[in-house]
Amino acid sequence: MADFLEPILPGSYLGILGGGQLGRMFTQAAQAMGYKVCVLDPGSDSPAGSIAEKFIQADYTDSAALQEMAALCKAVSTEFENVPAQALDELESLGVFVAPRSSCVSLAQNRVAEKKFLATWKAETNIGPAPYCVVEHDADIEHVPANLFPGILKTARMGYDGKGQITVYDSANLVAAWAEFGKVPCVLEKRMDLDFEVSALVVRGYDDAVVAYPVSQNIHRDGILHTSTVPAPSLKPAQEKKIIDAAKALIRKIDYVGVLCVEFFVLKSGDIVANEIAPRPHNSGHYTMDACVSSQFEQQVRSMARLPLGDTRLLAPVSMLNLLGDLWYEGSEDQAREPAWNKVLSHPDAKLHLYGKSDPRMGRKMGHINCVGESLNQARQNCAAVALELG
Ligand code: ADP
Ligand code: MG
Repeated sequence: MADFLEPILPGSYLGILGGGQLGRMFTQAAQAMGYKVCVLDPGSDSPAGSIAEKFIQADYTDSAALQEMAALCKAVSTEFENVPAQALDELESLGVFVAPRSSCVSLAQNRVAEKKFLATWKAETNIGPAPYCVVEHDADIEHVPANLFPGILKTARMGYDGKGQITVYDSANLVAAWAEFGKVPCVLEKRMDLDFEVSALVVRGYDDAVVAYPVSQNIHRDGILHTSTVPAPSLKPAQEKKIIDAAKALIRKIDYVGVLCVEFFVLKSGDIVANEIAPRPHNSGHYTMDACVSSQFEQQVRSMARLPLGDTRLLAPVSMLNLLGDLWYEGSEDQAREPAWNKVLSHPDAKLHLYGKSDPRMGRKMGHINCVGESLNQARQNCAAVALELG
C-alpha cells in the first residue's frame, strides 16, 4: 500500500448501500461530522433514505442508479450484507473507493465459504468453527458424520436472526429439513454446548491501522439478539485477549477496510468457537453509540473516508436492550399499543434509539436502548428495570 489516497473531508458525499437501521445510524454519524449521505435502497420507505440528503430508490444492480451514486460519492460502504458483489464491483470500476471490498462481503454472504475460511484460519488463531459439513447434493447426506448430530442445518445464503435454520437429530430429520429448504446449498453444523455468546468488533483503516472494541456478551431470544453487555460479564481476560487477537488477525488476513463483527461461542468446556462474520456494523455493537468515545458508525465513516480511526475506549459499563415490534402489541397482533416511552425516558441512564419504522411487525427490529451505569451491575440493573417498564 504505497500510494495513499487523500482523505475525503466533511462537506463531501458518502454513499451507503441499504437503507435499514444500520444505514440510518451511519447516516446520522456521517451528518454529525458534516458529511452528506447518499442512500441506495430498493424500498420506497427506508429508515436511512428518509433522512439522507440524497435517496436513490433502485435495485442494487441498477447500473444507472450506481452511476448516479458514483457521480456523487467518492466512497461507498454497505449496511446490508447481501448486497450483490456485482454492485460493489461496478462502483469500484467507476472509480469509487468501496470499503469493504466485494470479496470481503462475498465471504460473509455464503456460509459455505465462511466456514471454510474460518476452518483455515484456525491454524493461525487456534479458534475454528463448530464441526460442520457441506450439504449440497443428495449424496452429501449419506456421508454426514454421525457426530454432527444433533446439528443445525443452516442455509448457505440469506440466513439472519436465526432464520434459515432447523435443528436436526438424525439423518431422517436432516433429509426432511433439507427438503423443506428446497435442497438449496446448506451447512450442517454440530450443535454446541454453549456457555455464552460474545462478539468482537474490529475496525481496519485504509492505512492498515486496526482497532478493537471491548468484547460484548450477547443474549439471544428466538434467534434474535436481545441484550449485549460490556464488559462481557462471563468472559475471562485471557479469553477476551484471544478473541480480540483472532479478530484483528482475521481483518488483516482478508485485507478488509471498515467495521467487522465476528461472533463467537464460548463453550461449557471453556473452548472458543468462531460462529460467523458480519461485514458491517453489528447490532451487538450498538452499545458503542453511548458508551464509547467513537461509535461503530463513526468508525465506518472514518474508515471509508480514509481518516485515522477513532478511539474505541469504553467510557461506562453498558447493557443494550433490543426493541422488537412485539412491544407494540399486547400479546397478539390484533391488540396494538404504544410502548411506555414515558416510563422508559424517566430513567436518566437509558438512551433511547428508534429507527423511524412506521410498521412495527412482530420480530422486527424497531430500536434499541443503551443503559449505562457506574458499574457493570448497575448497567445490568438499569437495563432490567427498563425492560420491565416495557412489559
Ligand atoms: P444468524 O445469521 O441468524 O445470526 P447464527 O449462525 O449466528 O445465524 O445463529 C443464530 C443463533 O443460533 C446463534 O447466535 C446461537 O444462539 C444459535 N446457534 C447457531 N449455531 C449454533 C451451534 N452450532 N450450536 C449451538 N447454537 C448455535
Ligand atoms: Mg449470528
